[in-house]
Amino acid sequence: MRHKILVTGGAGYIGSHTALALLQAGYDVIVIDNLSNSSKVSLERVGEIAGRNPLFIEGDLRDAALVNQIFNDHPIESVLHFAALKSVEESVREPLRYFENNLVSTMTLCQAMANANVFNLVFSSSAVVYGAPSIVPIAEHHPTGQTTNPYGRSKFMIEQMLADLAEADPRWKIAILRYFNPVGAHPNGLIGEDPNGMPNNLVPYICRVAVGTLAELKIFGNDYPTADGTGVRDYIHVLDLADGHLSALDAIRKSGGTHIWNLGTGQGNSVLEVLREFEDISGRPIPYKIAPRRPGDIATCFADVSKAERELGWKAKYTLNEMLRDAWKWQSTNPLGYK
Ligand code: NAD
Ligand code: UDP
Repeated sequence: MRHKILVTGGAGYIGSHTALALLQAGYDVIVIDNLSNSSKVSLERVGEIAGRNPLFIEGDLRDAALVNQIFNDHPIESVLHFAALKSVEESVREPLRYFENNLVSTMTLCQAMANANVFNLVFSSSAVVYGAPSIVPIAEHHPTGQTTNPYGRSKFMIEQMLADLAEADPRWKIAILRYFNPVGAHPNGLIGEDPNGMPNNLVPYICRVAVGTLAELKIFGNDYPTADGTGVRDYIHVLDLADGHLSALDAIRKSGGTHIWNLGTGQGNSVLEVLREFEDISGRPIPYKIAPRRPGDIATCFADVSKAERELGWKAKYTLNEMLRDAWKWQSTNPLGYK
């Protein structure tokens, strides 16, 4: 019998790519998503690529009756928890909505899991929990909690909550995955990142400039202490990230307690490097202007990935060129995203 995995937020960007990887690895996949930041077309495409469909349940994770019902109806073995609101900027304007959505949905999920005796959980955290790093590359033991916005604090609080759960009950097997900067798309161009409204992140923004729906990129600061003055980040292909989830799932099945792993490439690239590489790949000029620094931004952030390599046997494979090639393939073949 195939193992059934519940994927929360599975219609979203990273969740849909991971749902596909799970199907391709032979798992059965159940997705719960309220479609607040996604389209169910992503899951139709996932089904098309995989040759079989995930079961989609449209609903909200904060709905305890629904979530308990899902565990009653299906022999779920493990949960991959992607569902969250994720815009830093929006979280500053609407902190309560962010805390309520991200914390309550995680508490409701964990309670329903415990009710159903399901204890394998992989949680989507973020490098945002490190705040402004005191040293790079950033290892998992770097201090956390100095987050600069409500979104980041919601991730930090959930990490603490999960650590307390595992402490209180050794049946919990929890992987906390701290993603660096996920970009790219499935190379076939059928699924990708489709942010609602104005993109906040660099690569989706550049893609929209390249297709002509946005006029120019604003580079937030060129006076950082980096080689060219623009911010440096660790971009990771979403397929590598999806693969990291499968490795983490395998690992926690074999051990108890809470584990934390960075998922990045260990390489840093500047905004200007990303822009130039994208121009080469797409053959389109990306007009830009230098704008003031974005509040809360840091100069340099990249991962020490040795723990994930050592403990999971996982390593990112895709280059920046491949990430941008696949982001462009997705955007150029779907200029309006899933619409
Ligand atoms: P996304 O917005 O594309 O996906 C999140 C999904 O969760 C969406 O489909 C949304 O509709 C759903 N959702 C939100 N609240 C829900 C609720 N209460 N009930 C049911 N569904 C709900 O975002 P993503 O980029 O795929 O991110 C996935 C996870 O990874 C998030 O937890 C995010 O915080 C984390 N993360 C993302 C990044 C990034 O740069 N994309 C970086 C670090 C961490
Ligand atoms: N960035 C930028 N213009 C944009 C969006 C992002 O110059 O329109 C820069 C940002 O300042 C940072 C890098 O690109 O140095 C990555 O930003 P993103 O928002 O993608 O990721 P995060 O800030 O979460 O690392």
